[in-house]
Amino acid sequence: MRWEGRSGSDNIEDRRGNGSGGGGKPIKGGIGIILVAIVTYFMSGGDLGQVFNAVVNEVSTTQSTTSTSTYKHTAQNKKQAQFVSVVLKDTEDVWSKIFVEQMDKRYQKPKLVLFSGGTTSACGKASTATGPFYCPADQKVYIDLVFFRELESRFNAAGDFAQAYVIAHEVAHHIQYLLGILTKVQKYKQSATKTQANKVQVKVELQADCFAGVWAYHAHKMKNILEKGDIDEALNAASQIGDDTLQKKSQGYVVPDSFTHGTSAQRMRWFKIGFNTGEMKRCNTFAN
Ligand SMILES: [Zn+2]
Repeated sequence: MRWEGRSGSDNIEDRRGNGSGGGGKPIKGGIGIILVAIVTYFMSGGDLGQVFNAVVNEVSTTQSTTSTSTYKHTAQNKKQAQFVSVVLKDTEDVWSKIFVEQMDKRYQKPKLVLFSGGTTSACGKASTATGPFYCPADQKVYIDLVFFRELESRFNAAGDFAQAYVIAHEVAHHIQYLLGILTKVQKYKQSATKTQANKVQVKVELQADCFAGVWAYHAHKMKNILEKGDIDEALNAASQIGDDTLQKKSQGYVVPDSFTHGTSAQRMRWFKIGFNTGEMKRCNTFAN
């Protein structure tokens, strides 16, 4: 991806090296959070929004605790943060333009929080192990840059555009928030079974992949950012973090009812639909 020498976003909240950002024990991996939230909801019969608040969470990383004292402001970390900032700016420029054009709505930019080790969001505490996520309650995307290293080392998804795809996917959840989709889904989940809730969550995730593809289409059109192999990097990342691939890796078998993000094939397919058309309306994963 061509990104160096371009300006970054002002909407980065850099909390790296800030201690655990609210203290307390960091919560465990992302998949764990989802399960805990769902179990709590069904046990209490209460308001899932209180527990979970529609936090849209991605894969968890292996590092359950990372001491913030180990965070160093190295040249590599600095460069990585710059990259995130430029990609965020690219999402702002693209969505500001096409949100009006395609949805007749004004785009409100989200903040992106960079943290190291642990931090607090309006959706609860987060740790490195949480993986990147979007919190609708404060409209912020949260990323510990350690995830990008894991993307390469653990998820076999190398390349700068694999990282750009992850950022674009999280921003896509913000788009879903602005469109009222996340709120609707959250309401539906309150009276749904776990299997039904997972099914609708898969649709949310696949739509975010499709919107990430729409973003890539327009970002390239506007700024000529794509280099050879970039789209393959994004598709590979989408594939490597598909539910079936992750489950096969972690437990050796696949449980489709427990899917929350979709299969590798589905994730690649929806990214491609977005990228090939550049049209948000083609991303109706809820249609069937
Ligand atoms: Zn997601």
